Amino acid sequence: MDLLKLDQTLADRGEPGFRACQVWAWAARGARSYEDMTDISTELRDVLARELPFSSLSLQEEAHSDDGTLKALFATADGRPLEAVLMRFRDGRRSICVSSQSGCPLTCKFCATGAMKFARNLSASEILDQALHFRRVEPIDHCVFMGMGEPMLNLDAVLAACERLPDLGVTHRRTTISTVGWIPGIEQLAESEMPIRLALSLHAAEEALRSELMPVNERFPLTDVIEACRAFYARKRRRVFIEYVMLAGVNDRYEQALALAHLLSGPGAGGRSRSAEPIFKVNLIPYNPTGSPYEGSTRESIAAFRAALEAQGVPVTVRLTRGRDIAAACGQLAASVQDQRSTLSS
Ligand code: SF4
Repeated sequence: MDLLKLDQTLADRGEPGFRACQVWAWAARGARSYEDMTDISTELRDVLARELPFSSLSLQEEAHSDDGTLKALFATADGRPLEAVLMRFRDGRRSICVSSQSGCPLTCKFCATGAMKFARNLSASEILDQALHFRRVEPIDHCVFMGMGEPMLNLDAVLAACERLPDLGVTHRRTTISTVGWIPGIEQLAESEMPIRLALSLHAAEEALRSELMPVNERFPLTDVIEACRAFYARKRRRVFIEYVMLAGVNDRYEQALALAHLLSGPGAGGRSRSAEPIFKVNLIPYNPTGSPYEGSTRESIAAFRAALEAQGVPVTVRLTRGRDIAAACGQLAASVQDQRSTLSS
C-alpha cells in the first residue's frame, strides 16, 4: 500500500488524521482487502478500493519448497521484478527475507542478483508490501534484509520500512540489515535509535581475494569495514554477524580460517568487548548453486573450517539452508527473475 498516497487520499477527502492509522492497523494485522476494515465506512472503503491499490506490488508467482519455505516473485507498478522469501523454522520462528532494490548495482561474483540488470531502489511502501504479503499468510516475527539489493544504498527507505515492522509483529531487535560493507550506511545505521542488527557479508579475510569476489572491496577495504563494524558495536552494543559463504577451494582452507579469526580478533582485544562479550559471530553459509563458476564447500570442509575458528575462540554457526529446491536460498534470488523479466515486459 502506498502510504504517502493513502495520507494524501484521506486528507483530500477531509478525513480526520487518525484514519490513516486505522487503515494501516488493519493492513498490519493481515487484512486481505479494504473490505475487511469493518470499522471504516463502506463509502470510504469503496473510495480507497477505487483510488488506491491495496498493495504497491502485484504477485507474479509463488513457489513452495519441501522444507516449508515460500518464495514470492512480485512486480512493481512500473514492472520491476523483485523477490522475497518466508522461512519457516521448526522452533516456530517465521522469518522473512526482503529485497531493498530491484536487481543490484554491485556485482558480487557468486550472487545471482548481481548478475541481473539493476532497475531501481524500492520505496518504503514497496519494501513493506513484501512483509505485508507474508503477514497475510501467517504471523511473522523476524525480518532480514538479505534479499535482492544492497540495503545501505537505499537506507532511508529501508529504515522507514523498519519503523513500521513492529506493527506487523517484527521488533527492531529481530530485524537484521545485511551489507557488503558500505561504510556510510553502517555509520548511518549506528546513529539510528532503532536497535536493529547489522550483518556483514565478508566472504574473504584477505583484501585481494575479497576484491576479486566482491568488487566493492576496492572502494571500502576490509580493514576499514571491520573498523566501522567495531564502531557500530561500540555505539549500539549489538553483536555484528559475519556472513561467510563457503566456496570450495576458494575461501575454505585452514589458513583462511586462521586469517579470518585474526581479522576479527583485532589488536589486543581478542575480538571481545570490554565486558568480554564477543563483538562478532560468524555464520558459515553453505553455497547454493546459482550458475556461477563456483562450487560449494563439502560438509567436511565446512566442519573443519568451523572447528578452526572455534579453536581460536570465534563464535560460529553454520546456517541452515532453506528453500534451495525453489532457488530461494542465500544468493539465489533473481535466478528466475531473468526469465520472468521477459514476461513482465511483454
Ligand atoms: S551479494 Fe548483495 S550486494 Fe552483492 S551483488 Fe548480490 S545482492 Fe548485490
